[in-house]
Amino acid sequence: MPDFPKGRASAHVGHPHCYLDIVSTTSPVLLLHCSRCDGDRHFTSSGKFRLNANGKKLDAWLVYRCDACDNSWNRSIFERRSRSEIEPALIESLHANDPVLAGRIACDLSGTGLRVSRSETTILRQALAPICKEPEVLVINIALAAGPSGRADRLIAHGLGLSRGEVEALASSGRLVIADAGRKALSRPLRNGIWVTLDVSGRADRSAIAARARGE
Ligand SMILES: [Zn+2]
Repeated sequence: MPDFPKGRASAHVGHPHCYLDIVSTTSPVLLLHCSRCDGDRHFTSSGKFRLNANGKKLDAWLVYRCDACDNSWNRSIFERRSRSEIEPALIESLHANDPVLAGRIACDLSGTGLRVSRSETTILRQALAPICKEPEVLVINIALAAGPSGRADRLIAHGLGLSRGEVEALASSGRLVIADAGRKALSRPLRNGIWVTLDVSGRADRSAIAARARGE
């Protein structure tokens, strides 16, 4: 169970809650030669790592995929390093395909000489236990893996599968609240780790909103 956010959500204690993590990553799209397409193509990070053990030496890569043919390209994170040299927490994050770590690495191209063609925002949604199918309140933790979030209303709309108009209407009626922030927060970028609460009680479409928020 995550730490309970302060503020409005505490007024709803006793109602069914749905806890979610929404991770937003704005990562560069690379221009690389694809051997299968035999031409320059856009490659985006898959968010997945490959970890290879050869004796006591470890290799780790971040896997990119060709947008046209799904061919993979492995970007080296480290090669032939002793297991003892590497932080156990890093190895654990690589095994778990930690989206925050993947986002941070995808955004950091310093010293790589890689060509960037554009940036793309990827949103990952994860429902936290216990999973509630018919919540009255959605409690959402926003994690920014890397890069700015862009406007809050756009990210929240994307993350919850709603239109920006619906997000605006929910905020106007006081049902959608960005913790510790006023109404203007909707047009500004979100801060990392901020809580957003959405009161869906009494709405006929609350199960559908929750399902979209969980990415179903
Ligand atoms: Zn290709």
